[in-house]
Amino acid sequence: TDQNDLALLLRTINFAAQKHSFQRRKDPEKTPYINHPIGVAHILASEGGITDVKVLQAAILHDTVEDTDTTLDEIEEEFGATIRHTVEEVTDKKALSYQERKAHQIARAPLVSERAKLVKLGDKLHNLRDLQRVRPVDWSQERVHQYFIWSGKVIEGLIGTNLPLEEKLRQLLATEDVIL
Ligand code: NDP
Ligand code: ZN
Repeated sequence: TDQNDLALLLRTINFAAQKHSFQRRKDPEKTPYINHPIGVAHILASEGGITDVKVLQAAILHDTVEDTDTTLDEIEEEFGATIRHTVEEVTDKKALSYQERKAHQIARAPLVSERAKLVKLGDKLHNLRDLQRVRPVDWSQERVHQYFIWSGKVIEGLIGTNLPLEEKLRQLLATEDVIL
């Protein structure tokens, strides 16, 4: 990791922080949304052992196109074609219905690039930990359980990418009786 990588990563974090600045998470505390992409990148580095700056950048940016006015062209202009491609791979198609999006994630998971699979593993681990920490106000316990079941089906398609992350996901899912 050279000096340029650090400056690049900080520029990426700053970009995402601006894009998500008016967005909040679904937890009762309405945590600033940027905590999530930062948390995902931190999980990848500290628990997944990831040092590829492009993966960490994609993690920081992974929800910008899905959740804000950011376009893929803008991502490419700022961060290049590789990051654009990875972000595109982890972005749900807004045109699809809720059920279609959930089914599409399961079907797509095994087909995406190694970098995208890593981002998805970190994303699922952070979201499942968040849900286990505290339930969103309008979510029933049953809805949380269904989310764990669906996440298990997505993660199934990501197996073979990063052993430590997969092991932690396996343990977390098992606490909700979801067996990978
Ligand atoms: P989702 O199931 O997509 O919400 C989960 C997503 O919210 C996560 O994947 C995560 O995505 C994000 N998120 C934000 N904050 C948190 C947090 N604290 N913990 C975990 N994840 C968090 O459903 P939506 O909320 O998008 O709902 C879409 C529609 O589905 C609604 O109209 C709803 O009524 C309907 N629905 C209702 C159900 C019910 O039981 N009432 C069941 C299923 C659907 P990211 O990483 O992208 O931030
Ligand atoms: Zn996410």
